[in-house]
Amino acid sequence: MNDARHDSTGLMLVISAPSGTGKSTLIRRLSREFQGFAFSVSCTTRAPRAGEVHGREYHFLTRDDFLARQESGFFAEWAEVHGHFYGTPRQATEDLLAQGRDVIFDIDVQGARQLKASIGHGCFIFVFPPSREVLEQRLTGRGTDSQETIARRLAGAKHEICDSHWFDHWIVNDNLSVAYDQLRAIYVAEKTRPLYHAAWQKTIATQWGIE
Ligand code: ADP
Ligand code: 5GP
Repeated sequence: MNDARHDSTGLMLVISAPSGTGKSTLIRRLSREFQGFAFSVSCTTRAPRAGEVHGREYHFLTRDDFLARQESGFFAEWAEVHGHFYGTPRQATEDLLAQGRDVIFDIDVQGARQLKASIGHGCFIFVFPPSREVLEQRLTGRGTDSQETIARRLAGAKHEICDSHWFDHWIVNDNLSVAYDQLRAIYVAEKTRPLYHAAWQKTIATQWGIE
């Protein structure tokens, strides 16, 4: 019993996938169904897309500002992805987890690896597109990126897929409903771990007189 006792912590749900696979679509569904989720808002040096709001999708920073923060230890992880910098603010994330909030991270494979090495808990999910052709269609169909950007993202996809073997779970996002059911099942199962039951552990200690 003693070994299973922990301070309260939220669950880190880390989701990586080649750009255009459907990560944001899956994440939106999950946070609609489970309203308590917090989203880790990353910093990036890329320009906002139409409809993106500073502080909601990302904190949009200049390169100099990003690098200054990186030097000062502001990021829990950071990486260069498709020619831009991206990073997860450390303090904001730690505060949410300490409050017991479950936090979704939409980050690339390099960043996910850093979090896995430094934090030691969390659930790491890799989402695959069903094929290269479908990924290209989704990137084009989304209508947010130039042909040059799409070509760069497709090249990056291969590197991400090559480094996907260490994730805890793999989901193939072919049929969206099937993929979502799998993501949902992973989340629900993950929440049954003793680590996420700090309050219940106090209850059973009182109920059963366990020191
Ligand atoms: P990501 O966040 O991984 O870059 P998005 O969630 O923006 O990807 O999805 C890219 C495009 O693919 C969007 O237009 C989205 O509506 C579409 N999409 C996502 N999942 C599926 C799916 N299973 N089948 C068909 N289209 C999908
Ligand atoms: P996009 O420009 O399409 O929003 O994101 C491009 C890639 O950067 C995606 O693979 C996304 O998961 C990743 N990304 C977004 N935020 C972060 C972050 O904070 N850290 C890392 N390492 N990758 C990120």
